[in-house]
Amino acid sequence: MISVFGSANMDLVAYVAKAPKLGETVTGHRFRTVPGGKGANQAIAAARAGGEVAFLGAVGDDGFGAEMRATLAEAGVDVRGLRQVPGSSGIAHIVVDDDGSNSIIVVPGANGTVTGPSGEDLAVIAASSALLLQLELPMEAVVEAAQAGKVAGVQVFLTPAPAQPLPAELLDAVSVLVPNEHEAAAITGAEGPDAALDALLELVEEAVITLGSDGALYGARSGERLRVPSVKVDAVDTTAAGDTFVGALAVARTERRGMADALAFASMAAALSVQREGASTSMPTRRQIEDALA
Ligand code: ADP
Repeated sequence: MISVFGSANMDLVAYVAKAPKLGETVTGHRFRTVPGGKGANQAIAAARAGGEVAFLGAVGDDGFGAEMRATLAEAGVDVRGLRQVPGSSGIAHIVVDDDGSNSIIVVPGANGTVTGPSGEDLAVIAASSALLLQLELPMEAVVEAAQAGKVAGVQVFLTPAPAQPLPAELLDAVSVLVPNEHEAAAITGAEGPDAALDALLELVEEAVITLGSDGALYGARSGERLRVPSVKVDAVDTTAAGDTFVGALAVARTERRGMADALAFASMAAALSVQREGASTSMPTRRQIEDALA
């Protein structure tokens, strides 16, 4: 089993010719709500890629919370550990203009109320072979979950986004760090992916730096290094490409596949997701990934 301790957000996306200035009201031409949050995205990606997945987190007592729960459940994610708390669910309010530029307000809502794992959460984590973490919950909660994973001998994956300083006690508990190239540069201050990977391996046992359309770079302290090219596709929407990659990678790793194989599976899952609009709605199923790899 894979447990995901993380955020669930509803993205509220308004499309407008030109974003409003302060005090101005403009009429947009399209609106949609998209279930997201890095935690929920990774959980859905892993479930669709064939994993048995449990989500641990919180939503508010509003309609968005109910919709997030239904979306996760529909993807096959176990939502018994998704708590409902008073107040609003986490939301991201996104304005996209005709140039494709966006401005975003994130309100953590229920995500901001999450503390360390409860007794029940600890049992779920201990029964898992992998735990997926991101940084959209309060840092203390993430650190406690990572430490619980380490104590239980679970492989702990961390997506260090949004980029921020990483406490030593968090890094000590992480098995596989999976930043994109911007996050890797922010964490290490190193220039270029190879130098960043060297610096990351001073901090953790294994790291994968995702490089967008340039693929991904993997390294382990054991000395193993792998470079995976991306799959050439026409990208329509790269939202949640990284989350799809991590979810699929965790599935392949918990099936004890070799790293080269696991990276190929993750790259294909991510490449399939960028060909479709949306976050959770764009993630491929196991069947689709395997057919594309065949
Ligand atoms: P994030 O979404 O976290 O910023 P990346 O942009 O690095 O992460 O993308 C994660 C992975 O998704 C990449 O390693 C690659 O496998 C895949 N990917 C991203 N963009 C493309 C693309 N344009 N074409 C094919 N694969 C892509």
